Amino acid sequence: MLKKTLLASVITLVAGTTFAAACSADVVGKDLMNGYYSPADHNKKVAEIVVPASCKDFTINLKHVGKAPKAAMGHNVVIAKDKDVNAVGGASAKAGLAKDFIDAKDKRIVAHSKLVGPNETTSVTFPVAKIKDGKYAYFCSFPGHFAQMRGILVVK
Ligand code: ZN
Repeated sequence: MLKKTLLASVITLVAGTTFAAACSADVVGKDLMNGYYSPADHNKKVAEIVVPASCKDFTINLKHVGKAPKAAMGHNVVIAKDKDVNAVGGASAKAGLAKDFIDAKDKRIVAHSKLVGPNETTSVTFPVAKIKDGKYAYFCSFPGHFAQMRGILVVK
């Protein structure tokens, strides 16, 4: 009897973990401004992240695996409509390094992480309901990065 109960607990635990994992995605940033990369393969770009429509909130975790200092090659993750990325990226650059290249007054930004340097991690969490009224993207607002360091959020 005890064995059965234990087994059931283990199954519940595993199932719970799997469900939670589906509401997040991990990416890495390198000493390159041309994209986010896969934690499992640092040569594979992550140009698209699938966001399950069943998730209430979704989290993107970013790890900086490069060596260049934050002031030269910092990365963050900003969520905005894909059509606004160029404009938001340009405006964010002007906010400056001290503000993590984020203009706090920019209403087009749905959510953002902080800016990180080598060996640092950060994350951004946003309500999935907020990215259902159009095509949304994730991008890095460090000056010059958003042109290529970006991807599409696909709600499925
Ligand atoms: Zn960047």
